[in-house]
Amino acid sequence: MNKAYIDPEKCDSSPMCPARRSCPEKAISQEKLGILRRGVAVVDPEKCVSCGVCLKMCPHGAIAMRAPSAGPKSKKKKK
Ligand code: SF4
Repeated sequence: MNKAYIDPEKCDSSPMCPARRSCPEKAISQEKLGILRRGVAVVDPEKCVSCGVCLKMCPHGAIAMRAPSAGPKSKKKKK
């Protein structure tokens, strides 16, 4: 099952992230870097139920659904 994935290049690390706040499963987290500073939002694939709410809430279009194992270094070498 595909899970939500947040593109760190598009995430603006807002401490008021509407996607994080709207997730019914609390699957999105951000490292606290100070009183008003947060890190890039990340999704816990173990908690994500693929409801799609966060995709509609992110103002930057930084969230997409994809296979949890997919990643920039997941390309298999062909022999
Ligand atoms: S798809 Fe649903 S459960 Fe998964 S991170 Fe987004 S809002 Fe949370």
